[in-house]
Parts: sequence; structure tokens; C-alpha cells
Amino acid sequence: MACSSIRPANPMLSAVVPFLNEAATLPRLISTLEQVLEEIGLPWELVLVDDGSRDDSLAVAKRELQRRPQIRASLLSLSRNFGKEAALTAGLEAAQGDVVVPLDADLQDPPELIAPMLEQWRQGFDVVYAVRRRRAGDSATKRLTAFGFYRLMGRLSSTTIPADTGDFRLMDRCVVEALARLPERTRFMKGLFAWVGFRQTAIQYDRDARQGGASGWNYWKLWNFAVDGITSFSRVPLQVLSGGGLLIAGVALLYGAWMVLRTLLFGIDLPGYASLMTAVLLLGGLQLIGLGVLGEYLGRVFEEVKRRPLYLVRERWQQEQQ
Ligand code: UDP
Ligand code: MG
Repeated sequence: MACSSIRPANPMLSAVVPFLNEAATLPRLISTLEQVLEEIGLPWELVLVDDGSRDDSLAVAKRELQRRPQIRASLLSLSRNFGKEAALTAGLEAAQGDVVVPLDADLQDPPELIAPMLEQWRQGFDVVYAVRRRRAGDSATKRLTAFGFYRLMGRLSSTTIPADTGDFRLMDRCVVEALARLPERTRFMKGLFAWVGFRQTAIQYDRDARQGGASGWNYWKLWNFAVDGITSFSRVPLQVLSGGGLLIAGVALLYGAWMVLRTLLFGIDLPGYASLMTAVLLLGGLQLIGLGVLGEYLGRVFEEVKRRPLYLVRERWQQEQQ
């Protein structure tokens, strides 16, 4: 579906929220969203995706929705934890709205921004993304690693991924459908959002600390997330491998030629154990790193060719507006 520059006067808005173990924050999330979206005054729906929570988030979500029969909502429960990216994809696919807004369950993405985002959308932008000016509640290490990651990505990838931007954004229906057409299993959403293009603009906000509960991310998950991002949007690591190999081979060749020449001119002397050992170890190490990098890409090719579904839904629950 192509984008239309004529904006419907009364668009429907979908708020999409993937959640994992957020029983503590869901009630607040749902009431805040209801308040903010009712104020905007457009028809809206809530799409909640339970990403295999092990606490009673699912029951809490259902209870909170049933207490508010006036809300139009769908609730998907995935069969296990598939990760936020897959859960978000599930939510985007279930969303029906003319504009779709993914949000985090912990209220770190302030719903109050939706109104100014809508304003930009009405001006003709297809995507309005929120850029964090400040990250309260994140440790210095997290801020530093996040900073490093965005800068590295910017260098390595030809797709420019806006820095300090999460999944929080408002998208036109046409963009959501474009995203659904991307077949890859590795859903590095930040990258995919940028890759699809369209008319994008940013608005700034201060990111607050999460409202209760705990972050589902640890550094191992974040590391894998970063590797996913780099390997699905950049071939530079592979180019570094071949470039580095070429360089080392060139130097070795010159050095070899010099040694032959030296032997012819000055005869043989045997010392050289240290340099030999260094060369062997260095090359061995470099080769292992090289194999590891190849393995990262190959592993991802393997994931893609298996063509497994991105997520499985265990339960689908719908609440029609009354
Ligand atoms: N989340 C999820 N699946 C996961 C991890 C997280 O659906 O495997 C959800 C989580 O419930 C929250 C959002 O993704 O709604 C962002 O997660 P979190 O707040 O832990 O990330 P952070 O804000 O620390 O980057
Ligand atoms: Mg959070």
C-alpha cells in the first residue's frame, strides 16, 4: 500500500505494547494510555503482546481490560519469550489503526508525546520518531555502551540509524505495511525502521526512569542485540577480515623476500624463535577471530533459511468496544 498525502480527518490510532513480566506497571500503563488517548479524542485501540511472561502479567492485563469494556483491545499471548523485537512485530501485525504507535510497557515512552507526534503526521510526515535527550535511570555504563553502539553503527552501516531513538514512534499505516513485507527473521527493529525510509521526522523528549518492575535486558542480551544490529546492517566486519588478511599477507611476503635475500647475502643464522612464535600465535588468533566473525554471519544465514515463523501465538483475546 502506498502512502497517501491526504490524511483522514478521523484516523484510528493503535497503541502497541509488548510486555515481559510487567505485572507491576501494566495497570498504570493502561490507565495512563486511556487517559491520554481519550483526551486526543480519536478512535483508538490497544494491542498488548505478552512475550511469554512468567509472572501474572497476562491475567493482570486481561483484568485491567475487562474492567474497561469501553476500550477496544486485542491481547496476544506468545507461546514463550521470543524477545521484544518478535513481540513488537506480532503487535504491529495485529494493529488495525491508520496510525500505529509502539510503546514500552514501563511508561518510559511518555504517551503524552503522541499528540505532538500526530500533529507532525498531519503535516505530512509518515514516521515521527522520538529522540531521547536524557536517559534518567540508566546507569553510566549503559549510557556509555548505548552511545558507543549508535556511533559504531553509524560508521559501519549505510543505513543511517538515528541515535538515541528507541522503538517509540508514530507510523502511518503504509509504513507498518512496508515493515510487514520485510521477511527477515532477525528483526533488528531500529534498523528496519530506518531502512524502510519514508518521510521521517524527529521530536525530542526526556526519557524518565522506568515506573516499577525491572528491565528485561542484561548485558549479554544487549551484546547479542548489538551484534544482531551490526551483522544485519553491515558487511564491514567481513571486509575488515579480507582487508586485514591481505595486509598481513602482503607484509609477510615482503618479510619473506627480505629473509631470502638476507640468507643469500649473509648466509644462514638460526635465531628467530621469538619472532616465529609471535607470528604463529598472532596469526592463529586472527584466524580464530575471523572464523568467529564468519560464524556470526553464517549463523544468521542459518536462522534465515530455516524460515521458521517469527513468533507463535498461544492465545488471542479480543475486546470489542461496547
Ligand atoms: N520486553 C519484551 N520482551 C523481552 C524483553 C522486554 O516484550 O524479551 C518489553 C518490556 O516489557 C518493555 C519493553 O520490551 O515493555 C522494553 O523493555 P525494557 O524496559 O526492559 O528495556 P529498556 O527500557 O531497559 O531498554
Ligand atoms: Mg524500559
